[in-house]
Amino acid sequence: NVSVVLFTADLRLRDHPPLRAAGDASRQVVPLFVRDPAVDRAGFAVPNRMAFLADCLRDLDAGLRERGGRLIVRSGDVVAQVCTVAAEAGAGDIHMASDVSAYAQHREERLRRALEAQGRRLHVHDTVTTVQPPGVVTPASSDHFAVFTPYFRHWERQALRGVLTAPRAVRVPDGIGSEPLPSRGSVTGVSPRLATGGEAEARRRLAAWLRRGIDDYADRQDVLAADGTSRLSPHLHFGTLSPVELVHRAREAGGPGGEAFTRQLAWRDFHRQVLAARPDASTADYRTRHDRWRSGPAAERDLRAWQEGCTGYPLVDAAMRQLRHEGWMHNRGRLLTAFFLTKTLYVDWRAGARHFLDLLVDGDVANNQLNWQWAAGTGTDTRPNRVLNPVLQARRYDPAGAYVRRWVPELARLRPPAVFEPWRLRGTGRAAVDYPDPVVGLAEGLARFKEARARA
Ligand code: FAD
Repeated sequence: NVSVVLFTADLRLRDHPPLRAAGDASRQVVPLFVRDPAVDRAGFAVPNRMAFLADCLRDLDAGLRERGGRLIVRSGDVVAQVCTVAAEAGAGDIHMASDVSAYAQHREERLRRALEAQGRRLHVHDTVTTVQPPGVVTPASSDHFAVFTPYFRHWERQALRGVLTAPRAVRVPDGIGSEPLPSRGSVTGVSPRLATGGEAEARRRLAAWLRRGIDDYADRQDVLAADGTSRLSPHLHFGTLSPVELVHRAREAGGPGGEAFTRQLAWRDFHRQVLAARPDASTADYRTRHDRWRSGPAAERDLRAWQEGCTGYPLVDAAMRQLRHEGWMHNRGRLLTAFFLTKTLYVDWRAGARHFLDLLVDGDVANNQLNWQWAAGTGTDTRPNRVLNPVLQARRYDPAGAYVRRWVPELARLRPPAVFEPWRLRGTGRAAVDYPDPVVGLAEGLARFKEARARA
């Protein structure tokens, strides 16, 4: 008997419940990945993620070949492709991971119906893309938690399943055709310093993180120049690492670092349980505040300045340039730039979220859209009108100005305090720095935001 394993956001062999279940139940397994044009149509197939995905698929194929198998790649509507491959292989059972976006929920429903009509069974496995699946950690009165802290208290107390090893052998039936694997080299427009994808690379990063990184995480996670976070987010997004395994490793590491890292992983589950319950929150305000965001030429000019890292606020600009250059941005930078766009410039969070999704290698509907809403005060933030001052943030999280000097070469010769507020330079000092004045004064931006929220 034969089973199909549909790989989606779980491109790994270790700790993979669908693969384990299929291998236990069937003599032969078809490991399948489908490139669905619906993902392209939704604007989701951007160069940075396509390049990283190509690495992941090649690495997955290599891992399967070491075990006597191979990866089958098809393009087209995912439901039609799964049905076709299942029919070609004579497979009665199809295994896949559960997921939370509207697209994923719809895909699951359609697949279930189509496969049942053919007399086949769909098995959907939890705890593959999340540590705790949506619906497990819920308050008494609702289908999801809207505030992180109580969610986390419950989340921490849940049982954690054990970590599964990779299969020793994968036997794929003969005669199942595959398209060629995509390659990173064929993708244009990729950020110059984009990370490498694939499970092998993910394991290397994880090992390095556990050896030197996690112990100091609590102290260094917000220091921009220290680069003291794991950078595992693209691997979690594509599933080349298992979030369940990461929680085990973090608990083993223990200490303040292990605890702080576990907490961040819980944030990931938290946003997923919000999106699972409210798939519309990817575009609609989770909690509407009736904002009338700025529009028109001045707002468009400000948005462009923000996108290009030319707002005149060094820390904002440094972070925006890191995003373009690496396809990744430090969390403190993401927070600050999102607050700046929505609260200082009062531009709609959707425009910022779109720009992030265009570039982030870890760009993820749940994490991106709901973190944007959190920053904009339309989401789950319990203090929706708080603002972040980019000068104070710079003094606190980049006290020596090293992160700014790394990413904004025009300011490479400035030291504190000038590197925080170059507009205060006078005369020849200012003339020597080819860097724009602020797009808007902080007091003016703040007053505009307060007035708008008071009216909203
Ligand atoms: P670490 O600090 O090492 O944390 C470990 C893991 O915990 C991360 O890889 C991530 O999976 C998870 N995590 C950490 N912080 C958060 C958080 N606030 N919310 C959810 N999960 C978290 N993360 C994405 O993965 N994809 C996105 O598209 C994304 N967009 C964001 C947009 C904004 C406006 C903000 C404020 C945050 C966004 N984040 C997003 C969350 C966070 O910034 C990144 O996960 C983190 O910076 C990734 O770096 P790291 O792997 O080194 O994180």
